[in-house]
Amino acid sequence: MKDIGIYIHIPYCKRKCSYCNFHFSTNFSTKDDLISSILLEIQARKHEAQDMRVSSIYFGGGTPSVLNSIELNRIFDMLLQHYQLGEGIEISFEMNPDDVVSSYVKELVRTPINRISLGVQSFHDSELQFMNRVHDANVSNESIRLLQDFGYRNLTIDLIYGVPQSSTETWAANLNKLLEYNLNHFSAYLLTVEDRTKLSFDVKNSSVKMVTDEIAIEQMNYLLDFAEASGFEAYEISNFAKEGYRAIHNSNYWKGIPYLGFGPSAHSYDGVNRRANISHNLDYIKAVSTGLDYFDIEILSNKNRCNEFLMLNLRKIEGIDLALLEENFTAYFPRIYKIFQQYLVSGDVIEKINFISLTKKGRMISDKIISDLFEV
Ligand code: SF4
Repeated sequence: MKDIGIYIHIPYCKRKCSYCNFHFSTNFSTKDDLISSILLEIQARKHEAQDMRVSSIYFGGGTPSVLNSIELNRIFDMLLQHYQLGEGIEISFEMNPDDVVSSYVKELVRTPINRISLGVQSFHDSELQFMNRVHDANVSNESIRLLQDFGYRNLTIDLIYGVPQSSTETWAANLNKLLEYNLNHFSAYLLTVEDRTKLSFDVKNSSVKMVTDEIAIEQMNYLLDFAEASGFEAYEISNFAKEGYRAIHNSNYWKGIPYLGFGPSAHSYDGVNRRANISHNLDYIKAVSTGLDYFDIEILSNKNRCNEFLMLNLRKIEGIDLALLEENFTAYFPRIYKIFQQYLVSGDVIEKINFISLTKKGRMISDKIISDLFEV
């Protein structure tokens, strides 16, 4: 039986973080109707997972921890009724630290959720305020302690580096918290300026100055050294795990395993084509409840598939399987391999047993390498 993943997008946040351009709303008035629509979508698309085993479920957002336990259990009841959930399934749930209160966690431990992804971002008040996060550093710390007290060992936190005014010392203090709490997994992202965010507005009008490339590289270098010295495997460009704690859901995504995405803005992939749900809460609710189309299908050309293969695989520690690349994308292979040769010479990639992967130096310019490799 083939594996499939499920992603559920909960598009609500209490506040707009200054850097975020994900799909979410701070207006909760549509929440009841939206959950009913997600339940309808889950039910309506069961045939897409027929004879398949669900190996992972991921609640992302937005902020899934705005769901109460009754709403969560309605979603689980619907999934259990219509899908075959595999043994050992990973069920991840994104939480914001301010939602981690004991009355809520007490309810969560009674659900099938077995992995928590906590949006900590920083343990410094000044950085959290800069990012317009709802929580402060005290809550970042408390939330981890509380989840651990309730027995969550499969707990990952998100951290952001390259925040204006940050230094290698402030970044090191954030990373050291992983050791203090003996965490087994974390994700680390460089702060980037996305369109249509407050950060982009502030950078454009010069009220905010981003860190220089040198500082960003210094912090990235520190991150990689820290991970290596502390027993975290950098198994993907932004993801770090102790042995046995790699994220199943994301790893399956990088392997090209199909997934179904429910909720506004959620994407799905059936192994051939991609589909994107409409990124508008009210339009999604209206369309799902009246049987209208609420998604676009993107038919992936061979070139699109090749680009995706290069991007997803080069981000992984294992790198690109050259035999697989040649077999699936024969026409493009000579050009791509020639580009790899240049990066081999510059020391940005290495070739090992027919796999090409990024070196530490190459990780710093991964976006450039990937765009050079792309077929246009
Ligand atoms: S970063 Fe997370 S919590 Fe903040 S606005 Fe974006 S989705 Fe919401």
